[in-house]
Amino acid sequence: MIPYGRQDIDAADITAVTDALKSDWLTTGPAVPRFEETVARRCNVRFAVAVANATAALHIACLALELQPGDVLWTTPNTFVASANCALYVGADVDFVDIDPRTYNMCADALAAKLVAARASGGRLPKVVVPVDFAGQSCDMARIRMLANEYGFRILQDASHAIGAEYRGTPVGSCRDADITVFSFHPVKIVTTGEGGMALTNDPVLYSRLALLRTHGITRDVAGMTGESHGPWYYEQVYLGYNYRMTDLQAALGTSQMARLDVFVARRRELARRYDRLLSQMPVATPWQHPDTNSAWHLYIIRLDQQAIGKSRRQVFEAMRAAGIGVNVHYIPVHLQPWYGKLGFSAGMFPEVERYYEEALTIPLFARMTDADQDAVVTALKNVIQ
Ligand SMILES: *Cc1c(COP(=O)(O)O)cnc(C)c1O
Repeated sequence: MIPYGRQDIDAADITAVTDALKSDWLTTGPAVPRFEETVARRCNVRFAVAVANATAALHIACLALELQPGDVLWTTPNTFVASANCALYVGADVDFVDIDPRTYNMCADALAAKLVAARASGGRLPKVVVPVDFAGQSCDMARIRMLANEYGFRILQDASHAIGAEYRGTPVGSCRDADITVFSFHPVKIVTTGEGGMALTNDPVLYSRLALLRTHGITRDVAGMTGESHGPWYYEQVYLGYNYRMTDLQAALGTSQMARLDVFVARRRELARRYDRLLSQMPVATPWQHPDTNSAWHLYIIRLDQQAIGKSRRQVFEAMRAAGIGVNVHYIPVHLQPWYGKLGFSAGMFPEVERYYEEALTIPLFARMTDADQDAVVTALKNVIQ
């Protein structure tokens, strides 16, 4: 089976982890700040907080942005459930903004229209908006920033798919337009630490909150204490935080992986261009790219013209799997999940994403993929749909 995505671990990665195992630290030691500095420098951002996974990063980002019960967070329905669940963790509500049918990202026009409608009807405006850089392509961040300035919401960018991507020539993660940007280092993503995530920001206040929330809300820094120190052992819990720490083993792997980020993304871009070419004569839509963006290509998604093909997406999916091609579907729209159904969402509310979901198929793309692997995917697809 050619998987839809897979990690790339080399000898240097293995050495980095075994070196960490032989060191004095296993959980957070010197490797964590080294990894944070490596990512921050690469992304041209001031602060980085490494955590256990991106879901934890989204959770503490919502807390740092002071999202509370009574507030509402808006995100895209075309994402992994974690981008929405983070609001529920803090007792806030969730709403969705439909996608742009070309990029499959949150549609900035739909966001603007929903903001206008909310203001006009005296409805709730969002406190936090979570744009997701779907498949590795940045959202229209400048437009979302302008809307944030006008309507007073904070921007929590879920860039779990997009480390190594650029927007208008600056790296995703720079937080030029976002208050906080989050990365995931799950093995199917661009760079892995096994499990891992990171929250990035240029705001020193948000940074200090994120750093505290990662480790129980405890500080050993006198400057952050409310009372007198009892002595050198003294620490204070000043927030209700969590144990969301990353280990040194994971961070050592992350720093080693970051040395190859550019190689990973270059190969993904090359494979994406090759797919574009190889699929150009077939009854499928290849992923459109906005000229302001340079995707990291976490995923390569085609939309099937089921009428022209004479087969359903499900039939194509099953035939591809039977042919040994690990196709997948990203994503089941979050508002169609039963949990969100209980919150009042239902089919028909976000028609663009629902139409997209009926036609979408993720085909394999990963840094280690060979041209021969890719040719096998294309041949299998041709056999299935022609
Ligand atoms: C993978 C992913 C997450 C969650 O990442 P974890 O590190 O597994 O917690 C969140 N949002 C998006 C868009 C993702 O793809």
